[in-house]
Amino acid sequence: MEILLATQNEHKKEEIIAMLPQNFLLKTFKDYDFNGDIEETGKTFEENAYIKAKFGYDLSHIPCFSDDSGMVVEALNGEPGIYSARYAGTGDFKDNIAKVLKNMRDVAYRNAYFISVICWVSEKETRYFEGRVYGTISTEVRGVHGFGYDPIFIPNGYTHSFAEIAPEKKNQISHRAIALEKFKNFLDSQSVNF
Ligand code: IMP
Repeated sequence: MEILLATQNEHKKEEIIAMLPQNFLLKTFKDYDFNGDIEETGKTFEENAYIKAKFGYDLSHIPCFSDDSGMVVEALNGEPGIYSARYAGTGDFKDNIAKVLKNMRDVAYRNAYFISVICWVSEKETRYFEGRVYGTISTEVRGVHGFGYDPIFIPNGYTHSFAEIAPEKKNQISHRAIALEKFKNFLDSQSVNF
């Protein structure tokens, strides 16, 4: 049973592989010699997840899933949102974090959430699975684990940022873990049909 994970983000790939059961063959773009860019032209996480999963399905003709994710800061009207990966426009993640902290300077209301939308495209159907984790934006960079905005996100119920928490712990409580749990249940219910 083969399925393709449509992502070029190595960190996400590792997190997803660590969380998925091993009873099927997980392919990646490397197996199809694709290392170009997929333009994420959608206006929502769902649209962008669909663009990537559909691209992967058309490339491979095997069921394909992708994750589109980002951080939504309420006091910034939802920014960085779907622009999370390219918020500062420099390609350097330190700049994305610096831009959030700068925009949040003197802002007391620091609620935010991470969201992950998994899109599944097979010959038969298109499905979506969503996960969110709520928290607050810290006032400074904290911790060395993880990736992206992890050093400035403190999940509710914790005093440490995602980058200070052990990766195994983050993988239990993250937006991606919640979306993947729903996705795994779907896969279980589907497995006879592959
Ligand atoms: P995507 O690859 O288009 O889905 O963009 C995802 C972007 O959202 C990443 O580059 C990060 O900026 C951010 N992001 C998504 N998930 C996480 C996470 O678990 N921790 C930190 N940042 C994340």
